[in-house]
Amino acid sequence: MKKHLLFAIILCMTSAYANSQNASTSPVAAAFVEELLDNPFLQEWTTPFEVPPFDKIRNEHYLPAFEKAMQQHNLEIDAITNSEKAPDFENTMAAFDHSGKLLEKVSSVFFGINGANTSKELQDIARRLSPMLSKHNDDINLNPKLFERIKAIYGSRQNVKYDPQQLRLIEETYKDFIRGGAGLDSAGKSQLRELNKEISMLQLTFGQNLLAENNSFRLVIDKPADLAGLPKDLLATAAETANADSATKGKWVFTLQNPSVMPFLQFADNRSLREKIFTAYINRGNNDNSSDNKEIIKKLVLLREQKARLMGYENFASFTLENRMAKKPANVYDLLNQVWTPAIAMAKKERESLQQMITANGGNIVLEGWDWRYYSEKVRKARFDLDEEAVKPYFKLENVRDGIFYVANKLYGITFEEVPDAPTYYPGVKLYSCKDNDGSLLGVFYMDFHPRAGKRGGAWCGSFRSQSYEDGKRVPPVMTIVCNFSAPAADKPALLTADEVETFFHEFGHNLAGLFRNVKYQGIGGVPRDFVELPSQINEHWAFEPEVLKVYAKHYLTGEIIPKALVEKIVKSGKYGEGFKTTEYLAACYLDMDYHTSAEVSKGLDVIKFETASMDKIGLITQIPPRYRSTYFQHTMTGGYTAGYYSYIWAEVLDADAFQAFKETGNIFDQATAKKFRTDILEKGGSKDAMEMYLDFRGKKPSINPLLENRGLK
Ligand SMILES: [Zn+2]
Repeated sequence: MKKHLLFAIILCMTSAYANSQNASTSPVAAAFVEELLDNPFLQEWTTPFEVPPFDKIRNEHYLPAFEKAMQQHNLEIDAITNSEKAPDFENTMAAFDHSGKLLEKVSSVFFGINGANTSKELQDIARRLSPMLSKHNDDINLNPKLFERIKAIYGSRQNVKYDPQQLRLIEETYKDFIRGGAGLDSAGKSQLRELNKEISMLQLTFGQNLLAENNSFRLVIDKPADLAGLPKDLLATAAETANADSATKGKWVFTLQNPSVMPFLQFADNRSLREKIFTAYINRGNNDNSSDNKEIIKKLVLLREQKARLMGYENFASFTLENRMAKKPANVYDLLNQVWTPAIAMAKKERESLQQMITANGGNIVLEGWDWRYYSEKVRKARFDLDEEAVKPYFKLENVRDGIFYVANKLYGITFEEVPDAPTYYPGVKLYSCKDNDGSLLGVFYMDFHPRAGKRGGAWCGSFRSQSYEDGKRVPPVMTIVCNFSAPAADKPALLTADEVETFFHEFGHNLAGLFRNVKYQGIGGVPRDFVELPSQINEHWAFEPEVLKVYAKHYLTGEIIPKALVEKIVKSGKYGEGFKTTEYLAACYLDMDYHTSAEVSKGLDVIKFETASMDKIGLITQIPPRYRSTYFQHTMTGGYTAGYYSYIWAEVLDADAFQAFKETGNIFDQATAKKFRTDILEKGGSKDAMEMYLDFRGKKPSINPLLENRGLK
C-alpha cells in the first residue's frame, strides 16, 4: 500500500475569498469590461449536467471573470454587514455561506485546468491572481463588521436551538475567522496580510519552478546497446517521445515523469545511465538555475513560522495541526516513530538482500540509490518469480476502470455511464455520470489519465463544482480525477502497473467521497487533511482481492482471466519492498514536520544542510532518498499538505482498521457495513468531528495493528 500520491483537492473557495475594495477601478476590470458580455463564466451553462463549457472558455476569460466574481462577492458581503436587522442564522451565517458562488465557479475551473493542462499564459494569470486572491481572502477574514455578526451568532449558540449542521457551521465559521486573523489588532492584521500575500506567491513560484524542472531534463539514447534490459512497451513510448521532436528523431527519450523514469530505474542494465537519470530526478529544483527552489523554501518556511508566531503558536505545525485529527506535532511524531523503527530495520534487511543479489551476479559494486529499484526487481523475480511486465497485460486501463465501477456498484448499488459529447479540456478526457441505487443523479466526473507537459506530476482528485444545496435542492458535484498513467503505445492500449492500479482505486475513493457528499452548507463540506485519505485508501483494499481481480483483470488480447498462480505471486510479493516504500515515505513525513517545527528556521536555513541533518537524525540510509526531497516536495511547499504529509499514514491507521470491519463480516461486499460507511462517513463531509464519524462507523477507536500487518511490519 503506498500513499504518497499527490492528492490536492482543488480547494473550495466559497467562504475563503473576500472583497477587493478598489476592484471596480482596477485596470484589469476596465480593460476587459467589454468582453464580459460573452464571457462564459457570466452566462448560464447549458452543457450536459451543467459542466463547464470548456469548448467556449478561453484564457482571456479568466481574469475579467475573477474580477467580476470578486466584486459580486463584495456586494454580497456588504449586504450582510449593512443589514439593519439583528444578526441571525439566515441573514448572516447562511448568507455568508452562500456568498461567493461565482468566485467558486471561476476558481474551480481555473485552478483545475492550471493543474491538469497549464500553459505559459495560464501560469502568468496565476501569478497575477495570487496577490488579488490573497487580498480578497484577507479582506473577508479581517472584515470587523462581518466578524461582529459572526461572533454574535457564535455567542448565541447555547441559547438558540440550531440543528446539528447549523451548529457545526457556526462553530467552524467562527474558528475559521479566528484562524484567519479576525482577533488580531490592526498592526497584526496588516502584518498578516503581508505574510499571506508573500506566502501564496512563494508557494505558486515553487510549483511553477518544479514544473519547469520536470520538463527540463531528457535522457536521450541513440545506441541500442544502452537500452538493454528495458521492456518493449517502455521502448515504444520512448521512441514515440523522441520522434515528436525533430532533434531526437529515431532515438529514444526518457523523461522525469514517473511512467518513464521509474521503469527505467527498474530495468535498465546500463548502470551509469541509471545514475544519470536518478541524479537528475533527485536534484529537481536544486540546480542553481532560474528554477531553483532552495531560496524559495528558505523564505517560505520562515514566513510560515512568522505567521504562526503572529497567531500565537510556537511553530507552523502547531498552528496547522490544531485543526486536524492529530491536534499537535507530538502526536504526529509519535505515530511516525512507531512505524519508523520496524520500517528502517526492514529496509536495512532489504539492502542486504540486494547486495547479495549483486554479489551473486558477479558484481563488484556497493549498492547505491540508482541500483535499488533495479536489483529489487531482480530479487522479486528470483524470489517470487514475478515479472511486472507479465502482469501489465491483465491491467488494461479500461478494464481496471470497469473493475473500479464494479466494486462501487457491488458496495453501494451505484451505476456509471459515459456522457458522450460532453465538452472537455483535452482530447481523450472523458465525462461519466454516476447514479444512485434509486436512479437519481449523484454527480458527474471527468477522468484524465496520461502525462503531458502541462500537467503537474502525481495523481489527484478535485472538483469543478462541489456538492451544495440551492433552494433546498441538492446540486450534484462535477468531480475530476487526474493521473499520470502509462500511455497507450502505437500498437497497444494503455496497460497499467500494479502501482498504477492501486493509485486508480485510490483516486476513485476520493471521487466517491465527493459524489456521495450531502451537506447543506459549503462551510462544513471539507474534512481535515488527515481524514481525507480514509475514503481513498480504503478503496485500495478491494483492488487485488481475488474475487475482484476475477472480474476485471483480463488479458487485453485473449480475454483470459489473470491466472490464479499469478495472483498468488502478486499477493505474496506485495509485501516485498515495504521496507523501502515505508522508509522513503516516512522520511519525507519527518522532513515536512521538521521544517515546520524546528527552531532553526528562524535563523535562516541552508536548505540542503537542513535536509541532511533532518535525515541523519532519524538514521536514514544513503541508498534511500526521502520520497520527496525539499526542492521538489510539492505537497508541503505548495500548501496542500504543509505539516500534513503524514496524513497518509495517519489515515492508513483508519483505513486498515475500517477495512477490517468488512473482513470481520466474512464478506468484503457486506451491504450493512457498506451502508454504514456511506452514511456515517462518505456522505457527512465535514459536518461532524472526524473521530466522532469514525466512532459512529466502527463503534470503537482504530488500532494500529492492521496497518503494521498490512505492511508486513509486524
Ligand atoms: Zn489521496
